[in-house]
Amino acid sequence: MARLRKKTLCGGCRNHLPAPFLDLGESPVASSYIDPAASAKEEFRAPLAVSFCPSCYVVQLTHIVPRDQISSSRLYSPSLSEKYLRHARKLADELCDRFRLGSQSTVVEVAGNDGYLLQCLQQRGVRVLGIDPSKNIGEAARQRGISMWTCLFELELLPELQRAVGKVDLIIGNNALAHVPKINALLSAVHGALGKGGHAVFDLPYVGDLLERNQYNRIFHEHVYYYSLSAVKRLAERSCLDVVDVSHQGEHGGTLRVSLGKYASAPPSAAVEAMLRSERAAGLLTDEAYARLRNAVEKHKAEFTGLLRRLRAAGKTIAAYGAHGRGNALLNACGIDKTLIDFTVDRSEQKQGLLLPGSHIPILAPAALLQYQPDYAVVLQASLVTRIAEQQAEYVRRGGKFILPVPSPRVVRSNELPEAA
Ligand SMILES: [Zn+2]
Repeated sequence: MARLRKKTLCGGCRNHLPAPFLDLGESPVASSYIDPAASAKEEFRAPLAVSFCPSCYVVQLTHIVPRDQISSSRLYSPSLSEKYLRHARKLADELCDRFRLGSQSTVVEVAGNDGYLLQCLQQRGVRVLGIDPSKNIGEAARQRGISMWTCLFELELLPELQRAVGKVDLIIGNNALAHVPKINALLSAVHGALGKGGHAVFDLPYVGDLLERNQYNRIFHEHVYYYSLSAVKRLAERSCLDVVDVSHQGEHGGTLRVSLGKYASAPPSAAVEAMLRSERAAGLLTDEAYARLRNAVEKHKAEFTGLLRRLRAAGKTIAAYGAHGRGNALLNACGIDKTLIDFTVDRSEQKQGLLLPGSHIPILAPAALLQYQPDYAVVLQASLVTRIAEQQAEYVRRGGKFILPVPSPRVVRSNELPEAA
């Protein structure tokens, strides 16, 4: 089994990596739910700390958790939400329009999707191939009728790829640049696989949102890298790729969709220049912005745990709603466990009966909220807050209240809930 690795060099430029600006302590893998029968077994934990490289601007974890430690524990959830499916269909249309994809085109998707986007493109006549190292992802894609290679996308694969599909017109990497530790190797392979005039489109966690909205619950071991566009530009240039376009997407707390071109024939879009300027003005290229995040995180942790402790001291019962990576990251960063939150509920039947990683809070079915009627329910899945309130109308009618932990912890009644971001 591969070992936990401490990084001394930046994963982008290979310069010395400075000390972390944010240290969230020893943390379990945010997706490693625990079977209560095996809970006596020692839980894997690894440092969760983030550094900013002043040479190439890439924000990155200081420790890399071995891939098998992450993927072995992941519960595979098929992409069945209608919102996700709609999003994928819309993206397929946009990509076909923008890159003039048709029956002569080849699209490869690398790392981290179950083939639904490729299926949408295939239905439009495009030749598609997925490449991902996870067996369960590969199986899900093949069930959709999508060709999937279960391996890493790297330079050594290129001769075989060339024989199978020739030069590639478009490479899609949803989150690939966040998850894959060797980002230069990934982009070198992208460069080698693309034909002249080919493009790659990557969705990335945006540090601008991380800083502005104090999103430390987005920091977990699976996400090795967090980017500004300025960082992506330097990284891409190292592999002879040009940033040709960028857009800011509101989903998942804020991501960048960056298009890279190989021997791009046109100058970058106006959006690229505008974002590079605004990042410089916002201080994203200096240490200071990151030091401010550290202070904001400490303040938030104190407020959130302080609120729960006061309620507990007053004899109140507290549960939670949600069993997802970000909620787990938040609870672990704040050191919250069963002494403050009795249980959480989640609609995923796969997760019910298991314990949350680190905090060991039990996961029950949503009906438990009515069965036990806790005084408060902490909403750990902020993106679903309005839907949760609708589904739990009876809990509210009987006097239950919600606690929203982000951006500032507060108690709300259902009619005060904000629209989900
Ligand atoms: Zn660097």
